[in-house]
Amino acid sequence: MRDENGRDITDWEIVRRFDVEVEKKLENFQKARKDNNLPDIPARVGLQLMGWKSRQPIEKVLEYSRLDFEHAKPPDDTITFDPPLPEWKQEAIYKNPMSVYTKIFLKFPRKFWDDHEYILHASKTRGYFPILQDLDRPGMLPSGRGILLITVTGDEGRRIEKQTDEETKAEIMTTLKKIYGEEIPNPSAIFYHRWSKDEFAQGSYSEPVVGTTSQDFKNLGRKLGRLYFAGEATSEEWYGYLQGAYLSGKEKAQIIAGNVNDVPPLTDSLLDIHEEL
Ligand SMILES: Cc1cc2nc3c(=O)[nH]c(=O)nc-3n(C[C@H](O)[C@H](O)[C@H](O)COP(=O)(O)OP(=O)(O)OC[C@H]3O[C@@H](n4cnc5c(N)ncnc54)[C@H](O)[C@@H]3O)c2cc1C
Repeated sequence: MRDENGRDITDWEIVRRFDVEVEKKLENFQKARKDNNLPDIPARVGLQLMGWKSRQPIEKVLEYSRLDFEHAKPPDDTITFDPPLPEWKQEAIYKNPMSVYTKIFLKFPRKFWDDHEYILHASKTRGYFPILQDLDRPGMLPSGRGILLITVTGDEGRRIEKQTDEETKAEIMTTLKKIYGEEIPNPSAIFYHRWSKDEFAQGSYSEPVVGTTSQDFKNLGRKLGRLYFAGEATSEEWYGYLQGAYLSGKEKAQIIAGNVNDVPPLTDSLLDIHEEL
């Protein structure tokens, strides 16, 4: 294992410990699930259920190289439940981590880009400012004059969200100058929200990992005593969308209201509510 300067930083003790503490345990965990006829789950979900966390950078590198990890961000420990959530609920949460979707708005003194709603940028680096949107077009924004919207997602979104406005602006300008020439004007303003760093959002919306089942969605939205769960992530049909948030919120609110007011519980199914939209 080498660092960015080429220095050999292999630590065999850590590698050995990783074998014992992670890979062997994960194998046994997987076998136990199989013996109990439980479906296979991604390695990250298994690790989280086992409560294992990397303690140092080398362990993080091992995680990525030795286990086939998803790139979505696992939930933080900002909320703790006492008593702890049952394992089936934890599993459903870990299978539905938050993804990152970053919208960068730039205001320019004049439009210089192609006259298309969507302009695609093909870069050798995957996901490098891939989608540009012209908000200057008629009907887009009343005050949209000179605004270009650039969207980045996933790992690139996470990287960009760690940067300052100035750093991101400089990168974008280098890219735009390559496309439209050195003469283009500098933006007078830049704005983007750092969703991955927002402690109440922790990302943009949920992105189920491979292998997530209908039962996982049911478990995510299943109540625990008087504790109800709603939100886009609980909707199998509409996760990632406002519809999922609205419909699941409405459904749970009606159930709760029914219990509070002692009126008959909700009878219309989610499918009926979909008709409203
Ligand atoms: C950049 C971006 C673009 C998107 N584009 C689209 C789109 O085009 N179409 C679409 O349908 N959807 C889109 N979405 C997704 C959509 O916005 C979400 O699916 C939806 O807002 C989720 O609603 P929710 O009620 O489930 O969760 P949220 O809107 O996240 O609501 C959760 C609330 O809980 C609060 N909260 C969190 N933790 C705590 C705490 N500990 N204590 C108290 N309060 C807390 C938060 O502040 C927040 O107000 C987009 C999202 C992003 C970020």
